[in-house]
Amino acid sequence: MTENEFYVRFWGVRGSLPCPGTGYSEVGGNTPCLEIVCGGHVMVFDAGSGIVGLGHRLRDAACDALDLFFTHCHYDHICGLPFFSPLYCSATQVKMWSGHHLDGMTTEGMVRQFMAAPFFPVGPEAFCADVGYQDFKPGDNLKPNGAVSIQTTALNHPNGCVGYRIEYGGKAICYISDTEHEDGKTDRAICDLIAGADIVIYDSAYTMEEFENYRGFGHSTWQEGARLCDLAGAGQYVAFHHCPSHQDAFMSDLEERIAAVRPGSLIAREGLTLHP
Ligand SMILES: [Zn+2]
Ligand SMILES: [Zn+2]
Repeated sequence: MTENEFYVRFWGVRGSLPCPGTGYSEVGGNTPCLEIVCGGHVMVFDAGSGIVGLGHRLRDAACDALDLFFTHCHYDHICGLPFFSPLYCSATQVKMWSGHHLDGMTTEGMVRQFMAAPFFPVGPEAFCADVGYQDFKPGDNLKPNGAVSIQTTALNHPNGCVGYRIEYGGKAICYISDTEHEDGKTDRAICDLIAGADIVIYDSAYTMEEFENYRGFGHSTWQEGARLCDLAGAGQYVAFHHCPSHQDAFMSDLEERIAAVRPGSLIAREGLTLHP
């Protein structure tokens, strides 16, 4: 671990529903979870099923403090939360942040409502960690720790969603999941957020052809992600929130198509680590 280290590691890249099975073994079937480390400080983005493996690793490494940011609380982004090992370690501090609420709900209220009868057997009282809850509004700048700066913006998604730009040491990683674009319109808030960023992780659930059938579901296309990155002068584009119907063979074809349009682009895979 060095003072300058800054990386993102993907623990869950799939949208909507965890997808076990052989058709998903190369790209991964867990739902959204990113680990972003800045100079040894651990930040987790989203608590999809991918957070379970990350939690075991953090517990084994005796991680004593981390921040967990939610983009929003649709099931695919929160279903792993009750199974996140650091929440059951009494020596660990976990601070949860969210800002997507359109209805006045708080971060703590979101967790209480999610872990409640009749949908779940125990409430957040079961956590042993030192858990804190922090609310914010889209557009706020967050300062979770020292030299890390996080900008936020509202995304176009049913029930609200937040996009993040994480800056450290003069580099920037952006996390834009989930969002729906409008034909012929450019989402200026996203363009501003990702301007000049080194890495942009973007909701690429559908191809442009598929998008016609899924308007209103709150997702975008890899073509729109590449277009926004070009407009904003961003660096590496990473397609994310893969549709459950897109198995490994489809995804590897897709990666070639994306890289042909925008060289250096990737599809997010579980276990992939990128340094800006
Ligand atoms: Zn999602
Ligand atoms: Zn969603």
